[in-house]
Amino acid sequence: MRSMPELPEVETIRRMLESTVRGRTIRDVKLSGLALRRPVPASLARHVKGRTIEGVGRHGKYLLIELDGGWTLLSHLGMSGRWLFYPERPREDRPHVHARVRFQDGSQLWFQDARRFGLLRAVRTDRLGHDASLATLGPDPVLSPPGGERLYALGRDARVHIKGFLMDQRRLAGIGNIYASEILHRAGIDPRRRTATLRRADWDAIAKQTERVLEEAIRRCGTTFRTYRTPWGEPGTYAERLHVYDRANLPCRRCGTPIVRIVQGQRSTFFCPSCQRRRARRATARI
Ligand SMILES: [Zn+2]
Repeated sequence: MRSMPELPEVETIRRMLESTVRGRTIRDVKLSGLALRRPVPASLARHVKGRTIEGVGRHGKYLLIELDGGWTLLSHLGMSGRWLFYPERPREDRPHVHARVRFQDGSQLWFQDARRFGLLRAVRTDRLGHDASLATLGPDPVLSPPGGERLYALGRDARVHIKGFLMDQRRLAGIGNIYASEILHRAGIDPRRRTATLRRADWDAIAKQTERVLEEAIRRCGTTFRTYRTPWGEPGTYAERLHVYDRANLPCRRCGTPIVRIVQGQRSTFFCPSCQRRRARRATARI
């Protein structure tokens, strides 16, 4: 099963980077010269050289490595990107490393990306709000949990199914295919339902489960299928907590009904046809 890093995986990486590279000063950066999702500007090395990492932030699936002197190193892991930290110079090389950040103390931080859908660029910190990638993002559901009322207002006019709504980075930044399926199962909402048909109580359940699912996934360092690893090379352990994702034909953990896989927007969706009913319950269906 192919899966991309989502908010919990990126937050795991953020926390680990914050505790390892904060305070280190960049001696130089070597780039592979190969384009990722977009070309990595050669000027990046010049902009970050000699700067000290002051902190590591995150918005949705974007990592913001904050440097002194008013620059930020912006990165997105795409499908297979990884940040790898080495306390001292690594003895062996690795394939697909597109940036090698060498610190003055001899430690190194590498950006590896086999499929090259990631993103890496230096942005002036005071221009971050205007950056083409960040400017269109909606709120981060962990940094500012939306709450049922806000989601209800956002969803009323949207002409999408709820799974697509949750994954739309312009509305909420950070939720992808895995966690959208998990949130909807825990909230008892059919992923095919149009947002305009959801009641306020549905949105309250979605808001609550969004917080719970993302928090637990962060606690477990995210979900690993194939490529994702923390900067220490460790897999996340949320996969064992998955209720529906990648569990087609296996029994629902709540009711035993076989989990169903469908395709929405060219992505797999997994749900329980018994726990996640398409129509509102009879008692409230006539409102
Ligand atoms: Zn079920």
